[in-house]
Amino acid sequence: MKLIFLGPPGAGKGTQAAGVSAHLGVPHISTGDMFRSAIQNQTPTGIEAKKYLDAGELVPDSVTIAMVKERLSMDDARNGYLLDGFPRTVDQAIALDEISAPDAVVDIDVPDERLMSRLTGRRICGKCHGTFHVSKLTDEHTCPICGGELYQRSDDHPDTISTRLKAYHASTEPLIGYYKGLGKLRQVNGDSQLEDVFKAILATLE
Ligand code: ADP
Ligand code: ZN
Repeated sequence: MKLIFLGPPGAGKGTQAAGVSAHLGVPHISTGDMFRSAIQNQTPTGIEAKKYLDAGELVPDSVTIAMVKERLSMDDARNGYLLDGFPRTVDQAIALDEISAPDAVVDIDVPDERLMSRLTGRRICGKCHGTFHVSKLTDEHTCPICGGELYQRSDDHPDTISTRLKAYHASTEPLIGYYKGLGKLRQVNGDSQLEDVFKAILATLE
């Protein structure tokens, strides 16, 4: 199965994608994670992408599309994929249709006013890359799953979050209409408990 998770930053795409990709047996491919590790490893893509991530702006399509094309050519993506954070522009969606068109697109919907607190309270595990919200942690610094150290993403600060939300509305939201037109869109309410969102996603894929 070839699947896309769409939705604003903070909708829970990453968390849900981890569970759903394991359930379906397809690789979870997050362009945000790929950029962050490219930055850490100082690859040419990472060096190019860093200024955009720091600002909360989209990395240019040419860079992003080339990176995803290479990733999708790898062996583990032969039987499908779950893309999280790509496509984010109509041009990226058109490119993906040429590389390997998705079967379904899940739009995880969360109202804007909920996103800011979700993102400012988000903590990431440096070891297992799990994502957590401070409101659910007993220890703000330690991963409840693997014991690794938790950190806050540098783009999870209010100014950068506003820029990311603007980029979402301007560039990514039009994809809802694009995939609706192709009959591939499935909408899920992301403003509820994690387990309920997970169940709703699986139900919509049946
Ligand atoms: P979130 O969905 O929480 O905003 P991501 O980890 O998906 O976070 O993305 C972080 C950043 O990586 C984005 O703000 C953007 O700079 C860059 N990025 C990720 N995916 C794409 C994409 N498909 N196109 C352009 N930039 C991207
Ligand atoms: Zn961890």
